[in-house]
Amino acid sequence: MIVTPAHVTGGPPCFRGSESNLTAVPGTIGSRRGGPGVAGAPTLPGVEKIALVSAAMHRAKADARAAHVTVGELRNLPGGRVEIDCSCGMVLTNGPDWSLDEHIRLHRAEARYLAVSRVAPPGMPRLIEVGADRLPR
Ligand SMILES: [Zn+2]
Repeated sequence: MIVTPAHVTGGPPCFRGSESNLTAVPGTIGSRRGGPGVAGAPTLPGVEKIALVSAAMHRAKADARAAHVTVGELRNLPGGRVEIDCSCGMVLTNGPDWSLDEHIRLHRAEARYLAVSRVAPPGMPRLIEVGADRLPR
């Protein structure tokens, strides 16, 4: 990973390189494990221990992960196309501007989002527009 100092670019530090060069620090946003709320994590004075992810949201995410796994063999098609089935029944494929891996990643992310969004508390502020009954109060 190459970090360009701010005084060279005139802006904030710029991180270059592939995503695989970047590693998540345990306990930071975006890491899969750890973070606030885990055993041994510091708590703010006067703040009760809070379950950051409700059981329903955690279960929905886990269910979505289990319901969207690639199954069967990768099929090579004419024109350099490849496709594989998802256990939900959708066919995942590459395209002119995206790879099969990108489609799989997007599909799984969408599935997790939909599942978690479905059970999220109605008053929770949202980035993505949701039905009126789910909007923040
Ligand atoms: Zn699926």
